[in-house]
Amino acid sequence: MCRCCLGCSGEEGSINSKVILNIFYKLSRAVNVDVVVIGGGVAGLSALNTLFTHGVKDILLLEAQDRLGGRVHTIRQDGVLVEEGAEWIHGGEQNSLYRLATKLDAVDTNLPDDAWDHRFVTQDGRLVDSEVYELAELLMNKCKENGMLVPFYNTSYGQYYIDRIQEAYRPGNNTASGKALLHYLEHMVNYEEGTGSWQDMSARDADQFINYGDDHQWQDGYDTLISQLTVGIPDSTMKLSSPVCKIFWDTPDQARVLVVTLEGDTFLAQHVIVTASIGHIRERHKHIFSPELPASLVTAFMAVHLGVANKVQVGWDEPWWGTDPLDLHIIWTTFDLPLDMSWLYGEVNIYSIHRHRGVLQLFVTGANSIHVENLPEDIIKKHVLYLLKRVTGENIPQPTFFRRSRWSSNPWTRGSYSSYITVSGAKAGIHHRDQLAVPLTNSKGKAVVVWAGEHTHNTRYGTVDGAMDTGKREALRIVSLIKSSSSLLPAVEN
Ligand SMILES: Cc1cc2nc3c(=O)[nH]c(=O)nc-3n(C[C@H](O)[C@H](O)[C@H](O)COP(=O)(O)OP(=O)(O)OC[C@H]3O[C@@H](n4cnc5c(N)ncnc54)[C@H](O)[C@@H]3O)c2cc1C
Repeated sequence: MCRCCLGCSGEEGSINSKVILNIFYKLSRAVNVDVVVIGGGVAGLSALNTLFTHGVKDILLLEAQDRLGGRVHTIRQDGVLVEEGAEWIHGGEQNSLYRLATKLDAVDTNLPDDAWDHRFVTQDGRLVDSEVYELAELLMNKCKENGMLVPFYNTSYGQYYIDRIQEAYRPGNNTASGKALLHYLEHMVNYEEGTGSWQDMSARDADQFINYGDDHQWQDGYDTLISQLTVGIPDSTMKLSSPVCKIFWDTPDQARVLVVTLEGDTFLAQHVIVTASIGHIRERHKHIFSPELPASLVTAFMAVHLGVANKVQVGWDEPWWGTDPLDLHIIWTTFDLPLDMSWLYGEVNIYSIHRHRGVLQLFVTGANSIHVENLPEDIIKKHVLYLLKRVTGENIPQPTFFRRSRWSSNPWTRGSYSSYITVSGAKAGIHHRDQLAVPLTNSKGKAVVVWAGEHTHNTRYGTVDGAMDTGKREALRIVSLIKSSSSLLPAVEN
């Protein structure tokens, strides 16, 4: 049944006469604004900030949750700062976000590699041949070079690794090591890419991503960026706990878009910027947009999946393994866990978080991730302690800190990162994110709804800097639309 905000009694998304009457009623009471921005994540805030600095000030940002930031969510708990969502600034000078963070003097110096306690061991704590992990590192670095994946364009990203490992472990070589390495790589790649399965992600899409080099950390949390993007913007411009449930983009008043929130607030906007995650859009577009979205756009949206990668953070006041931050890599050579612990097979890297050596972080991806979202906290702790004891051979004290994220259960994200074009999506002809960012044009020929968000960035999808750039891109598009139709709005200041 319909859960939208117009009281329709029929099937999801159905529009009956009662609903049409309701639309006219809401139209007559709606608040007029120049631009509505949907979503207060990095893309939405960047759009808001750009519009503001270009003199478009009659704006309203509607955010579904009771906080800003979206998939940037810094938590300060028990004296520990952890990132539930984004954590690293991926890359240096080429990255607009790195440049901004540097300007704010907010980037931390990276720890030198030899400050870490790196360990490469099997599930039973046996040291792994350096040859094995050197090959793993080589393969992962190689495929980040653009162009390496060209021969695999019609298939998956995972196929590249499978073929390469096949080459390295030809018949007669040690196939057991080959299998163990493949398992390790599969889970490292799923964690880095946030994919449920590396066989699902198009190699062509993976090759579009441009790598900007080494990762960096914020000195005092990723929410430094959220504060920065909102400097000088009046609080009244940003409405929290206001999920948008309907967007009438071709109204009887064809110049404007009617936006309705779950609470029944209504706004008439000249333009709307939608920045909701692709996970949310895929799930809700049929119910939110009226008329329904054009088929070409729906095909593009359905070609892109939002992977699920959750974090589990377990901490102690003092690290029990030694004095240095830990970087533990696990190569699974036997698969003998009790059945209820099978999600642990996906754990191949456990490491200390930034600035808190005593807090260890695990990523859980794909189906395991959704399973762990629903496990009780004490069970997760018990499983993690079992694994750590088995791998390190140490008696481990009870942790004093615990957190686990739930990005899939969150209806406003329905996933974490990366948004990736699937193999079948690529086969259906979706190769670039431009195809997800085609503005909606109403029957008067006016571009009324535009799309931002990390999933719409061609080369930096799945990142914060990508999200930030798309918000700016669409805000500038609107500024130029406004400028070119001076009858719609007063001229903007530059
Ligand atoms: C666990 C995790 C780790 C990550 N690590 C990194 C990293 O290290 N480095 C990096 O660069 N990136 C990382 N990312 C990715 C990065 O966080 C995202 O790419 C980026 O934050 C996306 O921003 P966005 O504005 O496009 O989307 P979002 O952050 O999803 O923002 C969309 C906003 O829209 C709101 N919304 C949705 N539907 C509605 C609606 N109907 N009405 C009103 N509001 C709505 C949502 O509540 C949300 O606030 C990570 C993400 C996760 C989850």
